Amino acid sequence: MVSGGAGFIGSHLCAALLDRGISVLALDNFITGSADNLGALRERKDFEFRKANVNEEIVVDGDVRFVLHFASPASPPQYDANPIHTLKVGTLGTMNMLGLARAKRATFLLASTSEVYGDPLVHPQPETYWGNVNPIGPRGCYDEAKRCAEAFAMAYHRAHGVDTRIVRIFNTHGPRMQVLDGRAVPNFMAQALRGQPLTVYGDGSQTRSLCYVSDLVRGVIAVLERGDELPVNLGNPEEVTVLELAETIVRLAGSDSTIEFRELPIDDPRQRRPDISRARTLIGWEPEVDLEDGLRMTLEYFRSVV
Ligand code: UDP
Repeated sequence: MVSGGAGFIGSHLCAALLDRGISVLALDNFITGSADNLGALRERKDFEFRKANVNEEIVVDGDVRFVLHFASPASPPQYDANPIHTLKVGTLGTMNMLGLARAKRATFLLASTSEVYGDPLVHPQPETYWGNVNPIGPRGCYDEAKRCAEAFAMAYHRAHGVDTRIVRIFNTHGPRMQVLDGRAVPNFMAQALRGQPLTVYGDGSQTRSLCYVSDLVRGVIAVLERGDELPVNLGNPEEVTVLELAETIVRLAGSDSTIEFRELPIDDPRQRRPDISRARTLIGWEPEVDLEDGLRMTLEYFRSVV
């Protein structure tokens, strides 16, 4: 069972699970997911979709082996627009998914986030870092919901013996990201393809590390199969400034767009790069797709939808 199965990462995850011969029941309420993302999945046997809000009780007949909780708004403008829903899906939704996993004796996997590190004071970020989060800022609804979700997973593991996993997902991109999602990669790609100026927030010196979605999904499944209850960072350690990212996208798109600087959003993390030593040791994982190759593939998708 995959909550958020009609989302960007959720839909890629459903496809990868089906490829491994695992039947999939995907749930989504379409707050940020899209029916379009289910297109190719609906054709596949062993795939079932149910429109549902996982903040309410979910009843599933029969056996469930894995419960993967990927439902949540995940881009800053989207969780800013849905702060209460974001808090609920990270807390109540996580509790419901854990309850279901417990009842079915299933393995539970939480899609957590690098946002649990907030605006990090330690760089790169290892899983042992506790983070620097502003609970009352605009990102608080997402960051604190995910931190609570991690606490829920550990509590069900310790109190009820549920087999749990936590993956901390760093910035990821790929086909099926929403054009209007508001994150850097979709904004820059849509702007470059339309010949509009790229909107770089602040002076663009803040950094991110971008992982291609196929690498990410491979890591999620490896953690599901071979991980333990402790968090695992999944992301690409290749770090770039946001300005470099914008310039790279302009070049790859063959665009003549210019760069326009805009105000930096409140609490925007200054730097972000995963320490992936634990993923390397625990599951033998590391990203294979380098930044430019990944961006080229994502750009190809954006050409088809912009
Ligand atoms: N960003 C930007 N222009 C945009 C969208 C985002 O400069 O049009 C910046 C944003 O301020 C942040 C970085 O790009 O520093 C990554 O933002 P994104 O929304 O992709 O995700 P985040 O890592 O902040 O959750």
